[in-house]
Amino acid sequence: MASRSICSKDTTYRYVLRLLAVDTAIAFEEHLQKCDKCAERAYQLTDFLRLIRKSLRNRESIDSSTRATMEAFLHSSAESVKPRDEEKLIQALANCFSGYERLYRNLLRKVENADADKIKQIAVEIMLALPAHLHNPKKG
Ligand SMILES: [Zn+2]
Repeated sequence: MASRSICSKDTTYRYVLRLLAVDTAIAFEEHLQKCDKCAERAYQLTDFLRLIRKSLRNRESIDSSTRATMEAFLHSSAESVKPRDEEKLIQALANCFSGYERLYRNLLRKVENADADKIKQIAVEIMLALPAHLHNPKKG
């Protein structure tokens, strides 16, 4: 029996990075049916990873360490990631995601009649082109 609540940011990150054990992943998917907060977060993170995958395909000029970080997000799994590296991977994704969300919101404010999907893709492109956003996320 699961004693720890699966309703958490941490579980959502582990879920999108495929780090959960199968039974926990199934329990979490059931939880997503009734928890809007986790469902929304899981959706946004999954969409973020989809945009990263698309940008990596279309761009050659991404520095190798940034590319390696992105590939780690896209190819992570409970089998391939060492338990001691999980926290680092989750933290890296959390940093990237918050940097991306900040860019996205700033762009959305500045562009009139913005197409939200296009703005999201542009935010990811900027994030990949300026990886300082990933390593030194500014507070606030
Ligand atoms: Zn929840």
